[in-house]
Amino acid sequence: MQEYDYIQIASLQHYQYCPRQCALMYNEQIWADSYHTKAGDILHEKTHQERIRYEKGVRIETATTVVSHRYGLMGVCDTIEFHPDTILPIEYKVGKSKSIYEVDKVQLCAQVLCLEEMTGQSITQGAIYYNQEKSRSYIEIDEALRSLTVDVLTNVHKLLFNKELPVVEKSKKCALCSLVELCIPDLTNMAVADYWQTMASEVD
Ligand code: SF4
Repeated sequence: MQEYDYIQIASLQHYQYCPRQCALMYNEQIWADSYHTKAGDILHEKTHQERIRYEKGVRIETATTVVSHRYGLMGVCDTIEFHPDTILPIEYKVGKSKSIYEVDKVQLCAQVLCLEEMTGQSITQGAIYYNQEKSRSYIEIDEALRSLTVDVLTNVHKLLFNKELPVVEKSKKCALCSLVELCIPDLTNMAVADYWQTMASEVD
């Protein structure tokens, strides 16, 4: 695989939120911060300092780069605990456990796919740490989650390889999207589609 064939694990959550958001960020290189992205950055300032420490026989790594050549995937694990009998990746999130989103599980599972390939060990569980509650929720890495994760990463590969910029329906998500002022979803729906159709018919 070439370097450009690899996608970022973070791109999976952007794709699940909105394929257009993912394309704007990774195909068009457009980025804007919101309250939520800034809160995440502040939280990850701690976890993204590369460190290794030992506690009660467990090796704990932070900010470890992981990669899967099979899936063309790379990213950074917030924390990985290497127990004598298992490996436990832990993803840090700003919110509360009642808001466990599928996207968070997919992100965790993508880390697991990378770690399994790198270590040759199978991993059945990961964890998400919710900063507001200061607690962990354990997530089973079952076949359904693996299958969903592979579907999502396959779609992201297609989106980025084909340099697509999909037009999507405006939804409630747009109000919380950091790119709303750059995407202008009111315009990108009918108005722009109509404009290009008109332009194309004039050229014909
Ligand atoms: S503003 Fe809406 S359509 Fe545009 S990228 Fe964000 S979520 Fe997607």
